[in-house]
Amino acid sequence: MIIDAHAHLGHDYVFDEDSNEQELLEYYRQFGIAGAIVQPFINRPYLEDTREIHDRIHAFCKKAGRYFWGMASINPHFRPADYEKEAERCVRKLGYVALKITPIAHAAHPANEDCRFVYEVAGKLKVPVMIHTGMGIPFADPASLLEVVGDFKDVKFVIAHAGSDMFFQQALYLARHFDNVYLEPSWINIMNIRKALETVGPTKLMFSSDQAINAPVELVKYRTLIQDPQQLERVLSGTAIEVFNLQV
Ligand SMILES: [Zn+2]
Repeated sequence: MIIDAHAHLGHDYVFDEDSNEQELLEYYRQFGIAGAIVQPFINRPYLEDTREIHDRIHAFCKKAGRYFWGMASINPHFRPADYEKEAERCVRKLGYVALKITPIAHAAHPANEDCRFVYEVAGKLKVPVMIHTGMGIPFADPASLLEVVGDFKDVKFVIAHAGSDMFFQQALYLARHFDNVYLEPSWINIMNIRKALETVGPTKLMFSSDQAINAPVELVKYRTLIQDPQQLERVLSGTAIEVFNLQV
């Protein structure tokens, strides 16, 4: 089974990108992908817009089938009470499985006070936090998480884009040295994915597209590098199922 651990829906006001329900489903059907964890693109920084896109993702996941789940993206600089309330609504009421921080778009350093509050909330709700890394350094440098992942040992951290190629070594360092750190290596070149497979292994890696059209590009990297069917299954869905506690 293939599950895309990083998909987007909506309009992105930072990067001027778009993704809609129909497009996601069409690509997934075309590429043989069973389901996805769907998060908002970067909406306007208002609470009502945040709620609206979360509701839209929830409606989509319900309709799309049993292998679709939501990931909440809430600006960490919202008032803490507002942040917590929306995170709680997403997880407890809408069945969301994770929280997302995008340092470049949320203007949030992953080790600052507001982001630390996000990890507290994630710990309380027992969901992992996915953090965008790579584009948007220095905030998006995986090294920004060095202190954090040790301070919040009970929270699972998913390093989106594994630092991108330029900051990959920092992401790999975190995954090697901390049990609660996992890599989501979308857009990473095949040589670095091979390095990750050799050092941290498939149990720490999860397939994701970030953009559904990119899915076959990511899939061919794993299918080229991994011969063992069980290890391949682990990367294509197993790691995400375990980390996000997906009911499949
Ligand atoms: Zn993304």
